[in-house]
Amino acid sequence: MDALLAVILAPGCAACGAALDAPTRGPVCAACWRAVPRITPPVCERCGDPLPAGPTTAPSGRCHRCRQPQALIARRRAAGPYEGILRRLVHVFKYDQRHTLAPRLGGLMRESGAGMLDGVDCVAAVPLHPRRQRARGFNQAAELAVHLGLPVVGALRRIRATAPQTELPASRRRVNVRGAFAPARRFGVRAGGAAVEGACVLLVDDVTTTGATLDACARVLRRAGAREVRALTLARAVRRARS
Ligand SMILES: [Zn+2]
Ligand SMILES: [Zn+2]
Repeated sequence: MDALLAVILAPGCAACGAALDAPTRGPVCAACWRAVPRITPPVCERCGDPLPAGPTTAPSGRCHRCRQPQALIARRRAAGPYEGILRRLVHVFKYDQRHTLAPRLGGLMRESGAGMLDGVDCVAAVPLHPRRQRARGFNQAAELAVHLGLPVVGALRRIRATAPQTELPASRRRVNVRGAFAPARRFGVRAGGAAVEGACVLLVDDVTTTGATLDACARVLRRAGAREVRALTLARAVRRARS
């Protein structure tokens, strides 16, 4: 009877719904974890978009969009493309509040960002507007940030509620987030500003599409004195780059 109840009551895999053989190892089955799509090298060393493999890879290591010498965000990486199982897991994590996914998803980010975490002084999550955070109950970006093994600082706040970027065409997204972020109010104390000043800050979010939100946050961090800003996201809507 116990075994029967365990089977009936055990939550299924968060991605495919199949019964979990080992629920204690987290809410996703092994097959789904294996099926999570990943972004693998060669990637543009600045924006992290996949580059075509082989002799056509640009000698600069950058894609054609990243040839200009200066950038607000020095390097961007994502664990995988925003598609397939990864897209499903992001939705389950965010909207079904499967907090238990955070360590494994954060682990994927740590792996993918391994080459860019060296030299990072602190991590700042892209903030939600307080009203949205109250409604959702948590900030998914902040939950991922704590699993990167680096000090997390509350350096940013969202001062304007914005339409979700995913509901807007690419051309509107930059305008949508303009002026939406500001330094955290406690800027200047250890938790915020002092940690950012002169620091290399890693900006973290769950999903990025055009990068407009990351750029808007990076601008605030740079104005607050950050020496360098890098960005790491769980998923990214990938443009397959031609070198
Ligand atoms: Zn599954
Ligand atoms: Zn690039």
